Amino acid sequence: MKNTVLYTIAPKDLAAHLFEVTLTVDKPDPDGQIFFLPAWIPGSYMIREFARNIVRINAQSDGEVVTLKKLDKHTWQASPCKGTITLEYEVYAWDLSVRAAHLDQTHGFFNGTSVFLSVQGQENLPHVVDIRRPEGEELKTWRVATALPQLKAKRYGFGTYVAANYDELIDHPVEMGTFDLATFKAHGVSHDIVITGRVPNLDMARLSADLKKICEAQIALFEPKSKRAPMDRYVFLTLAVGDGYGGLEHRASTALICSRNDLPVKGQKEMSEGYRTYLGLCSHEYFHTWNVKRIKPAAFAPYDLRTEGYTSLLWLFEGFTSYYDDLMLVRSGVIDEAAYFKLVGKTINGVLRGSGRTKQSVAESSFDAWTKYYRQDENSPNAIVSYYAKGSLIGLALDLAIRTETKGRKSLDDVMRALWQRYGRDFYSDLGGAGVTENDVERLFDEIAGLKLKRFFDRYVRGIDDLPLGKLLAPFGVEMSDKRKDAKPGLGIRTSRDGNDCKLANVYEGGAAHRAGLSAGDILIAMDGLRVSASNFDTLLARYRVGDAVTLHAFRRDELMMFDATLTPDDAPQVTLAGQAKPAAHARLRAAWLGTKSAG
Ligand code: ZN
Repeated sequence: MKNTVLYTIAPKDLAAHLFEVTLTVDKPDPDGQIFFLPAWIPGSYMIREFARNIVRINAQSDGEVVTLKKLDKHTWQASPCKGTITLEYEVYAWDLSVRAAHLDQTHGFFNGTSVFLSVQGQENLPHVVDIRRPEGEELKTWRVATALPQLKAKRYGFGTYVAANYDELIDHPVEMGTFDLATFKAHGVSHDIVITGRVPNLDMARLSADLKKICEAQIALFEPKSKRAPMDRYVFLTLAVGDGYGGLEHRASTALICSRNDLPVKGQKEMSEGYRTYLGLCSHEYFHTWNVKRIKPAAFAPYDLRTEGYTSLLWLFEGFTSYYDDLMLVRSGVIDEAAYFKLVGKTINGVLRGSGRTKQSVAESSFDAWTKYYRQDENSPNAIVSYYAKGSLIGLALDLAIRTETKGRKSLDDVMRALWQRYGRDFYSDLGGAGVTENDVERLFDEIAGLKLKRFFDRYVRGIDDLPLGKLLAPFGVEMSDKRKDAKPGLGIRTSRDGNDCKLANVYEGGAAHRAGLSAGDILIAMDGLRVSASNFDTLLARYRVGDAVTLHAFRRDELMMFDATLTPDDAPQVTLAGQAKPAAHARLRAAWLGTKSAG
């Protein structure tokens, strides 16, 4: 192939977790070619400085050494040369997450953002990568899983793969090893499920059947007539570990990490909480195939991977994706209505728990994701609101409001489809897509729903008001109640286990512990002279009544401190939702919303 950027990547030293990468540029900038590695990975809004894992780098041209000058933390400039330039470097890959790279004797995984230097000025050329098999007889059975299109490689084989440009190259994570694999079709498009890690008696058939339903429901949501998926194939890459949870979306795949106990066991039919959580995660990342990988905020079209990209729209891109992830589970029949309401109740309780929601709007939370949401500390519940959780409730509120106001003729689905048709469908076509601005979103809502929603946006998106969900749910025959009135006594804290110690993880503003002077990080050791441990604290507290005065002893920086506290009602919200069978008109509206059979 002429005029391409060419990489090779090989697992070089599995025990030292090193990938060896070469990069060949035929026509480098004669004034000195600039190379850089991204500082962040799209979908995870935090500066991660991946270049810190490059442990050795050199360059040559026509057999001569070329000097590389470091310009900043992630940028190199080669000394001017006329011929082909080849860089050779090693990347340390020992980050067990979906965001970077990981390599050992059991498998290799990488995101392009961790291993492929960008060639400045040549980002739009085709990028070819030769993925090489590690050396060693015992590694002959390794295969490759990625949505990166093959150039000279068999499906699941080592060999060359190709991307139309750098943006595409880094949007297809690669897994290699001896993974479990299953394939299903969703509306004619091939979907792979790849599971890395030992999972005894994994029920791949059940997993395929459930994911097929979820994927087909989502494809049909965006393209109800043609049922056309936006990609030629899709790959779910999952790393199963002892304890883990996370996912990152890509245009034709997702990288996931989960607990092996979350994956279904052959012969077991019930829906465990872990499995439902895993399916919810798959559903979430899959929904991003449309919402954020194609319908994008203007700030990400294109991404600037050297520095933070600011958008106040993550409440839509993450929040609405969070709204639809669970909704798609109930609409596709994977969970029932009662299970769905439990999930919504949990989200509502999470949002109402912290006073941060009275200080930060979801628009602000989106904008400051880089320094706040992604860098949470012990004070986060008192300082920030989640654009995921409150964003999903905004999706819910808008969906319900539009359905009610239009007597069921329109819904949030129509708005998502309009976003898709105008901004998403052609994003990767030659025409090139534009991103969505804050004004576009608001205009589109008014136009599609036929409502004037400025006040809604002012209060709940740019403002900090709590959503009137009880009122909005009523026409759907859903009763929302908060049982916290008969609450047990509490201290207004969240504890965590530190060995057998009871540590204060969060101290909620205005709660009994806060008023008594306790602080996050304090180790609670006694209450009224009785020893407190991580295992007995709740039982001990349950012996008291609201209004009781207690003396608390705690260590802070190993210094013993004493506090007098008055127990208040535990004000953790306990919202529950319940669907009512009558009146029938309400039940019908609810069935249309949840895609369930009407009880009426
Ligand atoms: Zn997401």
